[in-house]
Amino acid sequence: MRKNIVAGNWKMNNDLAQTEELITELKNQTKTSNAEVMIAPTFTNLWHSFESLRQDDIEVVAQNMHFAENGAYTGEISASMLKSIGIKTVILGHSERRAYFNETDESLAKKVDAALAHKMRTIFCFGEELADRKAGNEEAVVGGQIKNALFHLGADAFKSIVLAYEPVWAIGTGETASPEQAQDMHAFIRKTLADKYGKDVADTVSILYGGSVKPANAQEIFSKPDVDGGLIGGAALNAEDFYAIVNAF
Ligand code: PEP
Repeated sequence: MRKNIVAGNWKMNNDLAQTEELITELKNQTKTSNAEVMIAPTFTNLWHSFESLRQDDIEVVAQNMHFAENGAYTGEISASMLKSIGIKTVILGHSERRAYFNETDESLAKKVDAALAHKMRTIFCFGEELADRKAGNEEAVVGGQIKNALFHLGADAFKSIVLAYEPVWAIGTGETASPEQAQDMHAFIRKTLADKYGKDVADTVSILYGGSVKPANAQEIFSKPDVDGGLIGGAALNAEDFYAIVNAF
């Protein structure tokens, strides 16, 4: 059985005081669903968030990391640094990292390898741009991103990988893929995995949808058979909205 997961990507939002406030509000929410809940605060607030949520049912995860173990990479953070403060999961390949920080399938493959080497779970993000979808190329683009960054891995690695399909045109735009568009792409992603690794492996990998998920649309999107949760940006910055999404399962 694959897990349902709702992960909040806080991006470059919330200083320490705002982080404390939002965590207090999150603790006051009630979870009525079976979804695993994660939040991804900024690097500077990871340790504090981890400590604050030690006793709670919310995993604190990182938004990014470098592939190298250590060394002359000014401004970067390694897997072992994250592990040393208790972080066990990292988001990799977010479209903002790809667009603004030149992350490529090739560099992401190295990051995934580093995460796996440290027994960290990866939430691996990918998705097509609007021009790709308009040209009818969305499956080719998404299939290519998955193959280039992940298909050097053995089947066992997928026990530690969660996929997050995030059409770039739906991130932070208020425009969401329709539940049918999300389901079609998620089914394609699962088939892509099944063709390479077999159906048993493909059926165990959680595939999250990300792109303007809100309390008003979460239930319909999550009701689709191949959608196993969400990666949430804007709505994760409000505790009530975030838990309305968590409880949409
Ligand atoms: C995201 O950044 O992963 C995201 C899905 O953002 P939003 O929910 O704001 O579209």
